[in-house]
Amino acid sequence: SAKSAGAATYRFFDTSLNASSARETELLSRFKRAIKDDEFCLHYQPRVELQNFSVLGLEALIRWNHPEHGLIYPNDFISLAENNDLIVPLGNWVVDAACRQLAVWRGQGLPIVPVAINVSSRQLKDDTLLETVMTTLAKYQIAPEMLEIEVTESCFIEDFDAASQVLEQLQKNGIKIALDDYGTGFSGLKNLKILPIYAIKIDRSFIRDIRNDNSDAVIVASTISLAHNLGLQVVAEGVESKEQLVHLKTAGCDQVQGFYFQRPVAATEIDTLLQRGRFTPS
Ligand code: C2E
Ligand code: MG
Ligand code: MG
Ligand code: MG
Repeated sequence: SAKSAGAATYRFFDTSLNASSARETELLSRFKRAIKDDEFCLHYQPRVELQNFSVLGLEALIRWNHPEHGLIYPNDFISLAENNDLIVPLGNWVVDAACRQLAVWRGQGLPIVPVAINVSSRQLKDDTLLETVMTTLAKYQIAPEMLEIEVTESCFIEDFDAASQVLEQLQKNGIKIALDDYGTGFSGLKNLKILPIYAIKIDRSFIRDIRNDNSDAVIVASTISLAHNLGLQVVAEGVESKEQLVHLKTAGCDQVQGFYFQRPVAATEIDTLLQRGRFTPS
């Protein structure tokens, strides 16, 4: 799908899931083992302030380093994990890996910035999330302000009150929350009004043709103005060109993320960027 554009187009599970249940079972057991065998890793993509190009944070994006198939992207295994009760253990691994990485950078004397992790609907329903997050932060002595959580609006369809209460507690404990893929799903205005979020991330499907598609341009401009009037920050996802960047700056967008600045990369490739703290305007 477009979501994994830029990634290898190899679809590991999409075809496999239609195959025999024996094959599916085999894949599942491989996947379960992958958690134990430490085959997952996080790649990091900077979130950049649009005015001065400073790095305000990093988004952690999971990858599966499959021994035979190489790097597999999350769109190819997150739903498998969700459908087989594996998203909670996987999500816990992500919390741990992100905090561990922050501790590593800090240990190297690098100026750290907040790391945002993506959390699935199913994880929000698990009443151990808050405890897991707080325990892991304590384990690595990371301040709650250094961890952010990204949720999509799909988290709030089934049980709005329960999901928003979990976020409420996380926020009370110092963890900032952003609403991801904004505009693609169930963008009820109630979400913006009630949820304890500090930012929305406008989905990249609205950014892609922002220069040529007037509807996209209008939607983005109106969303920015609506969000600002509600006191929310606006992040544009999937910024790939200078032209998109200029357009978004004119529209008053606050922050951007995308291949224009940096593709998601391994933690070791972020070192120099953390040191510099910003990109150089060109
Ligand atoms: P997302 O949270 O919206 O993350 C942004 C996705 O857009 C990432 O894809 C990123 O590589 C890609 N991207 C960033 N900039 C650009 C750009 O300029 N152009 C294009 N074409 N793409 C760009 P990725 O890493 O394949 O992740 C896909 C989705 O998988 C994420 O979307 C998120 O919903 C989910 N995901 C990733 N990591 C995790 C995780 O640890 N846990 C959970 N539950 N979901 C995750
Ligand atoms: Mg995200
Ligand atoms: Mg997104
Ligand atoms: Mg997403």
